[in-house]
Amino acid sequence: MSEAVAGAVAERFEELYGAGPEGVWAAPGRVNLIGEHTDYNDGFVMPFALPHITVAAVSRREDGVLRLHSADIDGGVVELRVDDLAPETDRNWTAYPAGVVWALREAGHAVTGADVHLTSTVPSGAGLSSSAALEVVVALALNDLYELGLKGWQLARLCQRAENVYVGAPTGIMDQTASACCEAGHALFLDTRDLSQKQIPFDLAAEGMRLLVVDTQVKHAHSDGEYGKRRAGCEKGAALLGVDALRDVPYDGLDAALDRLGDEEEVRRLVRHVVTEDERVERVVSLLESGDTRAIGPVLVEGHASLRDDFRISCPELDLVVDTALGAGALGARMTGGGFGGSAIVLAEAADVDTITKAVQEAFAAADFTAPRVFEAVPAAGARRLS
Ligand code: ADP
Ligand code: MG
Repeated sequence: MSEAVAGAVAERFEELYGAGPEGVWAAPGRVNLIGEHTDYNDGFVMPFALPHITVAAVSRREDGVLRLHSADIDGGVVELRVDDLAPETDRNWTAYPAGVVWALREAGHAVTGADVHLTSTVPSGAGLSSSAALEVVVALALNDLYELGLKGWQLARLCQRAENVYVGAPTGIMDQTASACCEAGHALFLDTRDLSQKQIPFDLAAEGMRLLVVDTQVKHAHSDGEYGKRRAGCEKGAALLGVDALRDVPYDGLDAALDRLGDEEEVRRLVRHVVTEDERVERVVSLLESGDTRAIGPVLVEGHASLRDDFRISCPELDLVVDTALGAGALGARMTGGGFGGSAIVLAEAADVDTITKAVQEAFAAADFTAPRVFEAVPAAGARRLS
């Protein structure tokens, strides 16, 4: 499959730029199994890569020109100069790949230009990290072509910097690390403080289970501002508790910490979510490592309740997926990603998948919601060179 895609992308590159590319690379989108809104609190996350990928054909240039083209966006080839790249000057899709070039150059890497053509099967704006896939595929291509020798986690850091500073979107490190570092058949247990990682075998099919992604196709308009508020609230909580990050509040010291926060009700709820969520990630890791995969279902449900009631970032569509799936026999379900729309995940016995899918679709129709997109997610490979 990948070879055919790589060939088609290389052909289109040649049509656009007059010569074939030096190579073709892919980077996946991701879903997060557990560990939501912990990545900017130095905490734990556990994403896995999707089979959905962004594929980029790339060649070096030595004349300081950066040409960018996406098959998925109208508007033709965009031509920029690497010397002119500056944070928050570009409101278009090109800010993501240009931001990567900017971040590499800022870090002292002599990237002197590139021609890029790309296309993606990662749904955009669905909470499945099409932005990270776009950044990481460009970073990996330039890393290879310019022989920079950067490791996956280092590319992830640079991509995060591109998104935070150049694009101007305050996101944690999870998405880029997932896209860069995940392995097929595994979930990635990532400590976002030092980026230490452990690949945890996660092969649901072998155990007769499936994981569904339900893309609600909604993105509520205020989501960016709400993200910033949550993030600021977490930082306030850490400051009030005298710790560097909420990661440093121990689970068995949570009650004492909440007492210390007194009447800061909003901050208390945020702190409770983050501290319990870190514990849930550790619990899921130990359940998976001991082969007790079905037992992660209730942990996912607890995580959803915490995001809905304490962190307050769910929405009616996400709650409907979770409640309906559980009512139709799912082992577990939760919203995944930043919240206020996007996608939910559902863990289910293989035999129950059709019943659950139908129940969710009917519930959405009955509620007059846009029909959701439901697909099965199998843990796939992280970023790689295709040709
Ligand atoms: P998510 O990462 O959840 O998909 P974001 O809002 O973070 O959502 O990123 C989506 C943005 O990334 C799009 O609006 C677009 O600017 C850019 N993008 C993603 N995929 C592509 C693509 N295939 N071609 C061009 N731009 C893309
Ligand atoms: Mg994104």
